[in-house]
Amino acid sequence: MASALCNSCGAEADALAWRCRACDGSLDLIDLPPFEATAIVESDFSLWRYAAMLPVERRFSLGEGMTPLAPARIDGLRFAAKLEYLNPSGSFKDRGTAVMLNHLAAHGAADVIDNSSGNAGASLAAYAGAAGLPATVYVPAATAVASKKRLIRAFGGRIVESHDSLADVYAAAETATYASHAWNPYFVLGQQTAAWETWQQLGQRAPDAVATPVGHGGLFLGFYRGFKALRAAGLIDTLPRLIAVQSAGVDPIVQAWRAAAPAPAKLKSAHSVADGILVDQPVRGEQILQALYDTDGFALRVDNEAILRAQRAMHAAGFMIETTSAVTAAALPQIRERIGGSAELVLAFTGSGLKALGNAH
Ligand SMILES: [Zn+2]
Repeated sequence: MASALCNSCGAEADALAWRCRACDGSLDLIDLPPFEATAIVESDFSLWRYAAMLPVERRFSLGEGMTPLAPARIDGLRFAAKLEYLNPSGSFKDRGTAVMLNHLAAHGAADVIDNSSGNAGASLAAYAGAAGLPATVYVPAATAVASKKRLIRAFGGRIVESHDSLADVYAAAETATYASHAWNPYFVLGQQTAAWETWQQLGQRAPDAVATPVGHGGLFLGFYRGFKALRAAGLIDTLPRLIAVQSAGVDPIVQAWRAAAPAPAKLKSAHSVADGILVDQPVRGEQILQALYDTDGFALRVDNEAILRAQRAMHAAGFMIETTSAVTAAALPQIRERIGGSAELVLAFTGSGLKALGNAH
């Protein structure tokens, strides 16, 4: 078992804590088992093939992980697409939710809640169903996509529409277990498996660069920590350059990176067609920036028109991604300009476009 420590004051947190009870700081896990290639269970075609590196008691699974790494191109620019939208609830969130909820259930969580614009809520509802736990999702009344709310309900989740979903979920967390995709360190741990899979799929190599959409940065930090674990184990020499892509209007990381700042400032407002990354203040903003500086990475923003154009191109090419996922494809010309045409590049396609078909855009 790993321990969770506060990033600000160093206090140890209890198993169900989502942030430090002493100072409200974010938590991270220490004493994680080192990555060992010989510990991979090759016969298990889910992320649980890495169970030796995931210190949680495994109780349930929906077969999450092992998503394809598919060759793709847009306007003649090539890349490899990590198809995270093919996870059980249709988003990358399932990696984190599966690991986090197995941990929380093993420590007695009886009633789980999260605040979400859609994907995290659907993921929590799906896994709470698998765990036999009731789940409540606080969704922003103004911006939540109708079809994503239907999906949460279809998975058996209860929805509370709220004008201040953050304040409401914090209040509810006094009595229920806040299974937060933004705060819980076990969620980020589960995301590390995306890096480990990519490494295996490339023949035990790291790509030159990896780009993800960034809201709270769960997948982005998962790639960073996952590749760091591979480097610590001597299995790769250098980390891939990490690329954070945000949308114009909701770009706190891009602004901070351009200013070489250690932490992002809170935005005044946040509007974009990329409804999955409307995050005005990422919980782990300092860590995201540190990962950019540490890997010679960079942060880019793309506007709504470019996002929707890239999404149409990807749909036409057979990749049924949601708008938020299309930010990485929309950034492709900017990325290639920085890393060159021949560098090996992985773009994370994070959420399924099936969830939004039929919604007006
Ligand atoms: Zn603290």
